[in-house]
Amino acid sequence: MTSGRAGDQVDRPDPGGTSPRVLLLVTAVTLTAFTAVLIGLTVPVTLPPDDALPAAARFGIALAAFAVAQLARLRFRTATGMVSITWGEAALIVCLYLVPAGWLPAAALLGTGLAWTGMSLAVDRRPPLEVLRITASLTAATALAVAVATALGAPLLAAPTPGLALALIAGSVTYLLATACLGGATLALRHGVAIGPPVLAALRGKLLMFVGNVAVGLVVVALVEADARWLLLLPPPLWLLQQTYRHRLRADQERRDWRAFAEATAALNQLDERGVATAAVTGALTLFGAELVDVDVVRGDGRWRRYRGDASGQVRDREVGPPAPPSTAEHELARPLTVGDVEVGELRVRFPATAPPSARERDAVAAFSDALAAALHDAATPRELRLVSARSSYEAVHDALTGLVNRAAMLSKGDQALRQLAHDHPVALLLLDINQFKEVNDTLGHAAGDQLLRLTANRLGTLARPGDLLGRLGGDEFALLLTSVPVIGDRSAPMAYALRQAREIAERLAAPTEVAGVRMSVEVSVGVVVAGAGTADLTELLRRADIAMYQAKEGGGSVAAYDSARDAASTDQLALLAELREALQADDQLVLALQPAVDLATGAPTGVEALIRWRHPRRGWLGPVDFIRPVENSEQLGAFTRYVLDKALAVAADWAREGLDVPISVNLSARSLLDPRLPAEIADALRRHQVPPQRLVLEITETVVMSELEVIDEVLATVRAMGVQLAVDDFGTGFSSLTFLTRIAVDELKVDRSFVIRMAESPEAAAIVRTTVGLAHELGLRVVAEGVETAEQRLALAELGCTAAQGYHFFKPMPADKIGAVLGTLRESAESNVFPLRADGAS
Ligand code: C2E
Ligand code: CA
Ligand code: CA
Repeated sequence: MTSGRAGDQVDRPDPGGTSPRVLLLVTAVTLTAFTAVLIGLTVPVTLPPDDALPAAARFGIALAAFAVAQLARLRFRTATGMVSITWGEAALIVCLYLVPAGWLPAAALLGTGLAWTGMSLAVDRRPPLEVLRITASLTAATALAVAVATALGAPLLAAPTPGLALALIAGSVTYLLATACLGGATLALRHGVAIGPPVLAALRGKLLMFVGNVAVGLVVVALVEADARWLLLLPPPLWLLQQTYRHRLRADQERRDWRAFAEATAALNQLDERGVATAAVTGALTLFGAELVDVDVVRGDGRWRRYRGDASGQVRDREVGPPAPPSTAEHELARPLTVGDVEVGELRVRFPATAPPSARERDAVAAFSDALAAALHDAATPRELRLVSARSSYEAVHDALTGLVNRAAMLSKGDQALRQLAHDHPVALLLLDINQFKEVNDTLGHAAGDQLLRLTANRLGTLARPGDLLGRLGGDEFALLLTSVPVIGDRSAPMAYALRQAREIAERLAAPTEVAGVRMSVEVSVGVVVAGAGTADLTELLRRADIAMYQAKEGGGSVAAYDSARDAASTDQLALLAELREALQADDQLVLALQPAVDLATGAPTGVEALIRWRHPRRGWLGPVDFIRPVENSEQLGAFTRYVLDKALAVAADWAREGLDVPISVNLSARSLLDPRLPAEIADALRRHQVPPQRLVLEITETVVMSELEVIDEVLATVRAMGVQLAVDDFGTGFSSLTFLTRIAVDELKVDRSFVIRMAESPEAAAIVRTTVGLAHELGLRVVAEGVETAEQRLALAELGCTAAQGYHFFKPMPADKIGAVLGTLRESAESNVFPLRADGAS
């Protein structure tokens, strides 16, 4: 029972002809086989006298058994060629029992010879020498096995005993080893490799079948001994066994194939053309058991180079013309190598004519050539260039600073995500903008700004959930697309959810941190928009979120939902900023309205607040709510602040000339306090207008107070050291005013209008006013109540101990040319103790 490489490995003889050493081996084996046949035939035959079968019939059975065992072979491809495994051992066992041992070499020679000649003519087309080698090998192996088996027992028609079984098994093992060794020797001689690995590979591949073969042989012997009619039941189990072998072989082969395929394609990963092509040739040779592999590579200049390898494993290359049209031979495959539309070469694999490629192998060649094409294409691109393009394609998608996706990638990935969702599946987009980022950048330097951005990106990264898309759109703007917005609940549920998320994120981001050694908290404004995934693309969602974000900034809160009603109004904010540039040059567009604050006891003016108005040539009168926020977020804030200071001090200078020593209050945007040049600019303005510093009051809001930025503290301390007064505006609306007061010395507290309004009906509001007044007294500060509109409020404030107030009840903000007269009247009436309940010109 043959196997393995013994008779069956199929590599064609070397292209140059059969090597002398193989020829020698074949000759030796053939001589041995013929000798064995002759010796066997001379051995006297002792058949039982009552034998039912004629001698010729027994020989015929043996011949047929050997032939059928070979014809029912299974074939598999190995690294060095096709290997057939056969039912040889089963045939041997049956024959040892049925036929006189001396006849078996002759029966094997004829049976295997006929089978292999037939198969060669019908399927394989092997050279006659190869058929001779296989036949001789199998015959020699049979002879050896017969010798071993008969030495251990007398199998012929013996009753089945353990002893007989042992002798038969020993014969089978001998047969297995002999065929494997002869096959291995042939391979070793032909390819000049060591004999060990191919023999072991053949034995491993054969093991299962060997066991089955021996079992089948022994069962047949037992059945014949009991009643030969039982043999009629044998074909179905044999067929099943054959299928099992086939399945097992295929599974093994597939596993090997895939491993080899993965290794071969990984090996293609080389940097230069020669490396890739050489790896491809050797890879294809082993992978497909090919006898010849050509990799033709076309260069940029149109010239072709051929890398060729054959069974010897050597790869040679030379310049060639363009490849000829592919051969139509069944065992030759040619595949053009292309990447996109670019032709990079051609791969040709010549299988042995005896083992043309199966459909699977054709697919594998196709897959291999795709990998090869890509590798050749890569190798053709200079390495440096490849690195650059890899980096720039990363950069094209990612923001270099934070590693988050950039605006372009955010748009494309976001749109992709939206398309994958149902039309009305709710999604939310959060647009985050860091408050006062520009100032951090300007004052602490760009490195600090970068650090702040990275830190924010990291924090956002940990807050985002799987499936969310997080990106940095540029500057200090981040976007977060939430695709898993719960759908349960009513129609407003998604927005409620998104707002909750936004608030949570804003809160977490605000956790204090240190940037460039400065403790600060990252405060963000978040615009939130919710929409059905199919109703808007990401560009539109961003646009809406942007509007909401500005609303958040305007509203002073950190989070705002998109409000379509306000959409139209805010779209032209950019235009507004461009127009502001002109307004700052024009001098007559931005004007100050002035609103006095009065002493509640005497009615004397305690100060005048400067409030900006924009007489816009096209839009009409604009109040601070219409433009202050965009200005604060723009580059023009510095110029704007200087402008207002200049106008206010010009007014104060006029009063001084008229002998009025009322201080003027100027509102400062939180952000302008982050500019360390501010104190010098203020000093310069005071000098230019010759206004003493005490006459200037800077109103700062609690938002400034809350950001614990050293630079702000420093600017404020410097300004105050110059003699300028500080007032805390909208006092009571923030939370950390009191802590701020311990850090920065101020001169005035302005009780927020909201408390004044609610004072009458809300004990809490009243308590805040009372506390603020008490605190101011304790600290020796002035306290001014804002937004006093009624006499009742005025009285209530007076009762609470408030000393000064401002509001429509006294004066509405008025033009600069009227304020001088009003102040003069106020002072006079205060001096004459005629306290005007409602001042002239107030409304
Ligand atoms: P604010 O500092 O709290 O200014 C007081 C606001 O209350 C002014 O509104 C004023 O007109 C208004 N007001 C005064 N008395 C009453 C009253 O009895 N009832 C009511 N309902 N309102 C009263 P305005 O002028 O619209 O200013 C709004 C805000 O814009 C100001 O709030 C201030 O924060 C800011 N602002 C105004 N001018 C400037 C400026 O030159 N620079 C900066 N950065 N901000 C400014
Ligand atoms: Ca104010
Ligand atoms: Ca205020």
